[in-house]
Amino acid sequence: MAAYDIVIRNGQVADGTGKKLFAADVALKGDRIAAVEAPGSLRGDNEIDAKGKVVAPGFIDVHTHDDTALIDNPTMAMKASQGVTTVVCGNCGVSAAPYVRSDIGHFLSLIVKKKGNVSKNFAAFAAKVDAAKPAINGAFLIGHGTLRMNAMGDDIGRTATAAEIVVMRDLLDQSLEQGAIGMSSGLFYAVANAASTDEVAEVAKPLGKWGGVYTAHMRDEGDDILKAMDETFEIGRRAGASIIVSHHKCSGRSNFGRMKETLPKFTEAMKQQEIAFDVYPYIAGSTILRSDMLDRADKVLITWSDKVPGVSGRDLKEIAQEMGCSMREAADRLQPAGAIYFMMDEKDVQSAMAHPGAMIGSDGIPFDTHPHPRLWGTFPRVLGHYSRDLKLFPLEDAVRRMTSYSAGRFHLTKRGEVRPGFYADICLFDPATVIDTATFDKPISPARGIDTVLCNGQIVWRDGKPGGGRAGHALKRQDMQNEAKA
Ligand SMILES: [Zn+2]
Repeated sequence: MAAYDIVIRNGQVADGTGKKLFAADVALKGDRIAAVEAPGSLRGDNEIDAKGKVVAPGFIDVHTHDDTALIDNPTMAMKASQGVTTVVCGNCGVSAAPYVRSDIGHFLSLIVKKKGNVSKNFAAFAAKVDAAKPAINGAFLIGHGTLRMNAMGDDIGRTATAAEIVVMRDLLDQSLEQGAIGMSSGLFYAVANAASTDEVAEVAKPLGKWGGVYTAHMRDEGDDILKAMDETFEIGRRAGASIIVSHHKCSGRSNFGRMKETLPKFTEAMKQQEIAFDVYPYIAGSTILRSDMLDRADKVLITWSDKVPGVSGRDLKEIAQEMGCSMREAADRLQPAGAIYFMMDEKDVQSAMAHPGAMIGSDGIPFDTHPHPRLWGTFPRVLGHYSRDLKLFPLEDAVRRMTSYSAGRFHLTKRGEVRPGFYADICLFDPATVIDTATFDKPISPARGIDTVLCNGQIVWRDGKPGGGRAGHALKRQDMQNEAKA
């Protein structure tokens, strides 16, 4: 009997820590990495020739809205094709559990397409994910916006009462106990915009007790970004939680260049608190269509509209011309809808990505008709365009910002490194050719140069298509903490 299930031979290992590439054979047994040894020293019945390829840990997409995509679309091709083997879900204040209401509503419909996919408690939701046997793993945050909808009904245009805060806090406490890894907030969104700093800090209290993280789509990413950063840092401090600021950006032409203010502010705050942030490698963002965002964008593309079919992928300016009205009026007529906003400075995006506190997250929105290309392109774009072509950082550092650094910040035990004993999450890619092919015109398109991807020891992407592996599952806080102690 062979000692190993799979041996990956002749590759160059980027082990995830940032250490320089080294030649090694990597052997897998069951769902673990069993050995990393000198080239030519390991043999198995099942060998993968990795000559000319980099053997990296599977990438961790720390910023996703894939909560129910894992259930509806379990092969997760848009992520597996990029080398992603774990997605962190429930960001920006919206999660599919715990949800006790019978209606879905606009905000939740961003991440939920089937009513059966929401759950009253986190344990039931995690069981649905496991039952779907997704190709890759999910770890889950609880959305403060979702908690608000539970506790406050439709009366969300105000800060919560003390009694409502208790309801939200108890739901969060129970969810963390059942395996959620933290809480996210999205104070930018209507559902949570009226929440006071006190409200969020009080709801977030259980994070300290369970070792959960706090992620924030901040109240403001434009003119008032510095104030929003202070608020975020205060909430994390009061909750006793480490912080990850989501999709850090300085948004709107009048704020171009302000990374010169935000990045030193992060650097200072990182001396006092555990703070990190994620970045996606594009100058355009994407979310719901909001008329108050039109002015700050140079260009707006529609990603979906329930009311007016056929507009997905089109420029709002053209749509408005055809309708013979203003862009604002056109936007109103398309609602509810989603959009892509060109609103960032390329230099800002690069300096954010290269900051020591930055990790990579896609913020892809899985159910959009014409999605932002980040959904299919983020990780290969960082490797090919930003690391190899623009030399923003070495390949080893690019891999670190997608793997071990991310795993450490989100407490994903034994993930994110090519090391014996770690889970067999692996991405084999060609460093000379790896690149995104998804564009704003043609956003649904798998990357080039991603050779073979394994999650928990099973092949999930190979030869440009899903590999059949379905060994992913919900990563639970308590399981990971227990394994970290063992
Ligand atoms: Zn967000």
